[in-house]
Amino acid sequence: MASMRVLVVGAGLVGSLLVHQLAARGHSVRLVERRGDPRGRGALAGRSINLAISARGFHALDRAGLGDRLRERAIRMPGRMIHPRSGEPIFQPYSRDPRHAIHSVSRARLNLLLLEAAAAQPGVEMLFDRRAIDVDCSQGRVVVEHSATGAVDMLDADLVVGADGAYSAIRAAMQKNERFDYSQRFLSHGYKELSIPALADGAESKGRAPHAPFAMDPNALHIWPRGGSMMIALPNPDGSFTCTLFWPFEGGEPSFAAIRSGDDALDYFRAHYPDAVPLMPTLAEDFERNPVGTMVTVHSAPWSWGGRTVLIGDAAHAIVPFYGQGANCGFEDVEALVDSLDSQTTNLAKALADYETRRRRHADAIADMALANFIEMRDKTASRWFRLRKKLDHALHGMAPSLYLPLYDMVSFTTIPYDDARRRARRQDVVLMLMLGAVTVLLACVVVLILAVAAP
Ligand SMILES: Cc1cc2nc3c(=O)[nH]c(=O)nc-3n(C[C@H](O)[C@H](O)[C@H](O)COP(=O)(O)OP(=O)(O)OC[C@H]3O[C@@H](n4cnc5c(N)ncnc54)[C@H](O)[C@@H]3O)c2cc1C
Repeated sequence: MASMRVLVVGAGLVGSLLVHQLAARGHSVRLVERRGDPRGRGALAGRSINLAISARGFHALDRAGLGDRLRERAIRMPGRMIHPRSGEPIFQPYSRDPRHAIHSVSRARLNLLLLEAAAAQPGVEMLFDRRAIDVDCSQGRVVVEHSATGAVDMLDADLVVGADGAYSAIRAAMQKNERFDYSQRFLSHGYKELSIPALADGAESKGRAPHAPFAMDPNALHIWPRGGSMMIALPNPDGSFTCTLFWPFEGGEPSFAAIRSGDDALDYFRAHYPDAVPLMPTLAEDFERNPVGTMVTVHSAPWSWGGRTVLIGDAAHAIVPFYGQGANCGFEDVEALVDSLDSQTTNLAKALADYETRRRRHADAIADMALANFIEMRDKTASRWFRLRKKLDHALHGMAPSLYLPLYDMVSFTTIPYDDARRRARRQDVVLMLMLGAVTVLLACVVVLILAVAAP
């Protein structure tokens, strides 16, 4: 598309990368964000919240020339470390290929990196403390309220992009139109962030951990699967871990309704997460202080309206976090949107429809896979069968790398579109079942033959 005036609503991970990519193509871009400007405000101080970035995210960041800047501060996680109720943790590699790893990165640092890179592009204007409250989709006119004064402005653009997250105001405005489909489904589990601090100097010499300043192995995503609930922990560059506790909102223990006080949480942890308790000196305070977050799956259709307003990232398709793919998927959306805009010279509506065609099927697929992965992480990772299946997956991949690629590898270590990966995994499963069936029949025949020969 020839140079346009674009208005991007939302300076989160996806909106910031999009602004960078649009400005790099010569569009003049305005960014509207309801929060304050995080640059130069010590945005990196305080609690560390991290997220896992995998091949898809790095692919998009590399295209923008930003991947290496993130890699510098990222921590490799080539596998899961499973913490049973008793006994030693067990490491399960994610892939047969030891070079494959997902990466733990600071959310705030990544956001800042993207925002600063976007701001450095010519033709970018950033408006913070401004909340979009309505949009006229076909006019490209966004109503914006100044957070401090309540003053309202109208901002016009050739293209409006709603990158304003799972509770998008731009999507809410689209919903007022007839024949706009929308669904949201909350998970019955919530999440609470807790923390494992870095070890104090000298702790290593006292034999507490071989990975100081980390209290546990930093090169793993730690999981405490407890059937129906779980805790995970990702490492931070400062030696700490951010833990996320996934419990049901309602019901008996463990649930956020049943366990409310820090002391009760501590008691419960002593019984069910015993190896974590000595590493979490502020557990009771963190549990009481930190809020319980909700997780939602959002589907909306269509993603564009009026030929000039479009949704991207969580605004179009929020997913639950259990495959660690929400941001990765949103970064792929950015690639698809700029490619679709590049491929059309004048027809903006067609470019937006093309973007949706490229992405919708895959966003739906990862939404389903993310829900399924919650059950795998909390219920199955601790089982022997699960470990056996993973070993079989890796062995088959080793024997026929071009024919057999486990689903986790395809999702996390390739850019095979999500739905194509899921279809291929289903075909592989069918072939595997047929092979196992054939082997079983063959063995049964051999046994029958032996018995027949041995019979008097
Ligand atoms: C617990 C948890 C763990 C996760 N872990 C991972 C992970 O490991 N890997 C991964 O890839 N993904 C992960 N995700 C998902 C990931 O966080 C999201 O997919 C990603 O942040 C989506 O980016 P976004 O820019 O679309 O939306 P957001 O990050 O939500 O950004 C939206 C922005 O829009 C702004 N905004 C909102 N409304 C308005 C308005 N009306 N006007 C102006 N501005 C507005 C917001 O302030 C915000 O800055 C996780 C999510 C959760 C909840």
